[in-house]
Amino acid sequence: MPDYKAPLRDIRFVLHELLDDSKLTVLPGYAEATPELVDSVLDAAASFCEEQLVPLNRPGDEIGSQLANGVVTTPPGFKEAYKAFAEGGWISLASDPEYGGQGLPKLVSFAVEEIICSANLSFGMFPGLSNGAYNALAMHGSDELKSFYLPKLTTGEWSGTMCLTEPQCGTDLGLVRTKAEPQGDGSYKITGNKIFISAGEHDLTDNILHLVLARLPDAPVGTRGISLFLVPKFMPKPDGSLGPRNAVSCIAIEKKMGIHASPTCQIAFDGATGWLVGRPHKGMSAMFTMMNAARLGVGVQGLGIAEAAYQGARDYAKQRLQGRAPQGAQAPDQPADPIIVHSDIRRMLLTIRSKTEAARALALWVGQELDISLKHPDAAAREAADDLVALLTPIVKAALTDLGFEAANLGMQVWGGHGYIRDNGMEQFSRDARITQIYEGTNGIQALDLVGRKLGLSMGRLLRRFFHPVGAFIESGMAEPAMGEFILPLAKCFARLQQATAFVAETGMKDPEAAAAVAPDYLKLFSYTVFAYLWARMAKLALAKQSGDEAEFYKAKLACARFYLERILPEHSAHFAIIMTGKGALAGMPAEAF
Ligand SMILES: Cc1cc2nc3c(=O)[nH]c(=O)nc-3n(C[C@H](O)[C@H](O)[C@H](O)COP(=O)(O)OP(=O)(O)OC[C@H]3O[C@@H](n4cnc5c(N)ncnc54)[C@H](O)[C@@H]3O)c2cc1C
Repeated sequence: MPDYKAPLRDIRFVLHELLDDSKLTVLPGYAEATPELVDSVLDAAASFCEEQLVPLNRPGDEIGSQLANGVVTTPPGFKEAYKAFAEGGWISLASDPEYGGQGLPKLVSFAVEEIICSANLSFGMFPGLSNGAYNALAMHGSDELKSFYLPKLTTGEWSGTMCLTEPQCGTDLGLVRTKAEPQGDGSYKITGNKIFISAGEHDLTDNILHLVLARLPDAPVGTRGISLFLVPKFMPKPDGSLGPRNAVSCIAIEKKMGIHASPTCQIAFDGATGWLVGRPHKGMSAMFTMMNAARLGVGVQGLGIAEAAYQGARDYAKQRLQGRAPQGAQAPDQPADPIIVHSDIRRMLLTIRSKTEAARALALWVGQELDISLKHPDAAAREAADDLVALLTPIVKAALTDLGFEAANLGMQVWGGHGYIRDNGMEQFSRDARITQIYEGTNGIQALDLVGRKLGLSMGRLLRRFFHPVGAFIESGMAEPAMGEFILPLAKCFARLQQATAFVAETGMKDPEAAAAVAPDYLKLFSYTVFAYLWARMAKLALAKQSGDEAEFYKAKLACARFYLERILPEHSAHFAIIMTGKGALAGMPAEAF
């Protein structure tokens, strides 16, 4: 199987040079999160993932999680690795110290999550879901629920799930049918069937806390009538030890394309006891806390797969000998040249790498803004950061998961027929990556969120949080001749994004179908612009370091920046052209004609 080494040098470049993460140390609670401490956390995460999680990835895929007599068994080695992971404090990296967490910035946990997802995406699902449950409870739970349950999630003794989906209810959560009946003692009886519940049942933890969307008896129809409940698998006793089994059971696990080690469960709630989280009928807003965090987390899953696929493809391309370079033999002492001499192979490697490095910069930038939005003492600074996170969340989710799948496919192509052979481990990346484009709101839904909600929010205030710094960066870059080759393409695509934004906003007001019709292309247009902006910023840093000990690293940065701007960014024009046709031909064919 392909080898993997955490890309620590590049992660440090983004954290310390691009984002200057030392500025987070002035935020309350983050004084100790110095770049030195962050580096040591990253080193330890890299060792753990490379040594303990990578070796479990292939067998986990082959064996998968298995259900027998209502009990789900994870693949061999997962239990021991999870125990070591929890004991190492990796689950609680960014959790509140009040509940036993380590209180590190989200930025750091994003960087660690990338490494986990590269090493073993299925394994990463378990702590990922627990973190989602932790966030929802921390933001919306009563003090009683928080003080009782959060410490169990931070230690990893108990894990969490997100129970939204039902057979008739996927994207449209307004169709939830699961019922919640008040019992008069503060608890509720939850009845209904959930499907596709990741980590819904497993043998890694003593207890599982299900966060369940359900309807109260007097609930209005649609999403305004949904409430959120906490339903434990085992009823805890007041001292935190386990009491009787609750009426929750796993009735099946799905056979699926990828992430085989992550059990995707059908869960039946047969009058199970639960507690309300947040206010009645306000479950959607609580669930959105979980979903927004999870959307960023899923974006990071795409990034992790992209990096793993890149490394597998790069290593193979250097050692596989086939054919000769068109310009003449590059390894004349060998029977053939390594395939990395061929321009098609270089195209594929540079496509993955230039997008992956920009994706990492984006994910960590959003992680840093998330920290500012939560911790900054100044309300205006918190609001500005929160706006940016809200605007960029659908882009992180969709662009990074599209990248994960694209990178996995390109990586497999680099391996030729050997990439298609299961034992070599490259095709697993494609199968694992594919779901990331679907769950946590499909990428089509992310595009609608960007166009339908985020653009118009607060009279375009969210957009301005991105447009203003980009505009200012372009203006200052214009004065630097060496930056011309990076600023000019950025300025052109930024102008197109502004024009398309005005067009989408104007047409959308008259005809929502027209805005929806161009939403996926608009999201792509936006994400290309974000990547171009980040590449121009990274190029500026790299230009200043073209000599010295690490010149090779910075020269490679510039090469990737140039590749992105010359060979990838032109696709921006195509998306722009499509957007400007409006709903055009897309709406031309009636449903019955399909
Ligand atoms: C492996 C796996 C793990 C999962 N884990 C969880 C989990 O832990 N918890 C959980 O609750 N769920 C989970 N899910 C469910 C997942 O989030 C849903 O599958 C997803 O949200 C889409 O819902 P759906 O499958 O019902 O598709 P549908 O909602 O039926 O959508 C079908 C298609 O129609 C499109 N569509 C639907 N509505 C609209 C619209 N209004 N506008 C435009 N297009 C639309 C969609 O984009 C999609 O392409 C998981 C699913 C899988 C496969």
